[in-house]
Amino acid sequence: MKIIVLGAGVIGVTTAWQLLGDGHQVTVIERAGGPAQLTSLANAGLVAPGHAFAWASPGAPGMMLRSLWRGDQAIRFRPRLSVRQWAWVARFLGQCNGASARVNTARKARLCVYSQAMLDQVVAETGVRFDEKRGGLVYFYRTRASFEAAAAKCQILRDAGIAIEVLDRDATVAKDPGLAAARGEIAGSLFAATDASGDAHLFTVGLARKCAEGGVAFRYGEEVLDLRTRGREVTAVVTDRGDVAADAIVLCLGVMSPHLVERLGIRLLIYPVKGYSATLTITDRSLAPRLGGVDEQNLLAYCPMGERLRLTATAEIAGYSTGFRPADFRVMFDRARALFGGAADFGDPELWAGLRPMTPTGMPVIGRSPYANLWLNTGHGHMGWTMANGAARILADLVAGRPPAIDTEGMACEG
Ligand SMILES: Cc1cc2nc3c(=O)[nH]c(=O)nc-3n(C[C@H](O)[C@H](O)[C@H](O)COP(=O)(O)OP(=O)(O)OC[C@H]3O[C@@H](n4cnc5c(N)ncnc54)[C@H](O)[C@@H]3O)c2cc1C
Repeated sequence: MKIIVLGAGVIGVTTAWQLLGDGHQVTVIERAGGPAQLTSLANAGLVAPGHAFAWASPGAPGMMLRSLWRGDQAIRFRPRLSVRQWAWVARFLGQCNGASARVNTARKARLCVYSQAMLDQVVAETGVRFDEKRGGLVYFYRTRASFEAAAAKCQILRDAGIAIEVLDRDATVAKDPGLAAARGEIAGSLFAATDASGDAHLFTVGLARKCAEGGVAFRYGEEVLDLRTRGREVTAVVTDRGDVAADAIVLCLGVMSPHLVERLGIRLLIYPVKGYSATLTITDRSLAPRLGGVDEQNLLAYCPMGERLRLTATAEIAGYSTGFRPADFRVMFDRARALFGGAADFGDPELWAGLRPMTPTGMPVIGRSPYANLWLNTGHGHMGWTMANGAARILADLVAGRPPAIDTEGMACEG
């Protein structure tokens, strides 16, 4: 089949790779000048099935409410005059109960575990290099109460087959001596030995190169404007260069996905949740973290990537702007300096802000749309790098009419 993939983020490129492997003739249309230029550019890099907890949890509404007057909340709500935002928030709040959080976490964990296996397979097939680091990720807690609560709730991840170790302060620092400076601040951690990390941008660029060598046509610098339809079928993709026809189309436009299909009556509840990242040069390896991880109290993620240290923080439900000011990074840097002060050059960071394409449940939308030849692979939220290769394999299986290797419950398009 002739298939057009819309978007060359990590989701579009992994999808193109799997479709190519199935023998399809694949074209990718991307408005940026290359792959992984939007949300897949500078994320935290964590391949983190051990961090698959649903963000819509019983504690989230309180955080959102407090964030209206306090700047220190992990999830921040910035109300806008936007029907899209309020519709999303209403559905998100509807998921913030114990029962939904357990279901959503279990489903996310299943997809993440599968996806990590698919990532390994793709790396074995292609040899793509992306500053990969294996050996686990450390999720550490600063208070006894939060540590004990985490130790109790990690069973749900163990049930999904993820090996989680509960470590006290000393065992945490022994696992990663880069945390020694923060020893007195750490109550304990969850350690996921099979979690890993790597640069999603490097991976996507490398895989796009492999796709192109295999015959995938990349049309960069071309903006998708609309979809032409006849009945319940898409006949062409309308771009700023004209119409492009195909047998099937796969939507992988991240946060922009709902906008393209709205006119077709497809309602995708995907809304941007903004985060900030800073990339620093490591200057003293002995003080730098050996493994990636998360300071759970501050939701500060850190990840060594070769000679670089990537930091990310903040989840803002605030609209589509990717702009940032130095002040947006102040708290992140204060906390990171306290952890890894002498490890990296804080004087010349590379700053970035990105928009997580979040659904209310945290599960992506993968499968056929109400239009017979329009497929969806979008809405991977805060875990798109972790979920990408599994989501792509599932999408390719569905296109081929094969049953996917895992249960796809929770991934269907509702609109
Ligand atoms: C701060 C932060 C930290 C994160 N950390 C992690 C992490 O540690 N681990 C993890 O698993 N995930 C993480 N994520 C999430 C992950 O980065 C995303 O889920 C993932 O990048 C989404 O990929 P995507 O391909 O769907 O979207 P994108 O990468 O945004 O790709 C969509 C593409 O579509 C293109 N496009 C949009 N509109 C059009 C149009 N009209 N025409 C043509 N092209 C168009 C865009 O240019 C873009 O290239 C993080 C995200 C953020 C913001």
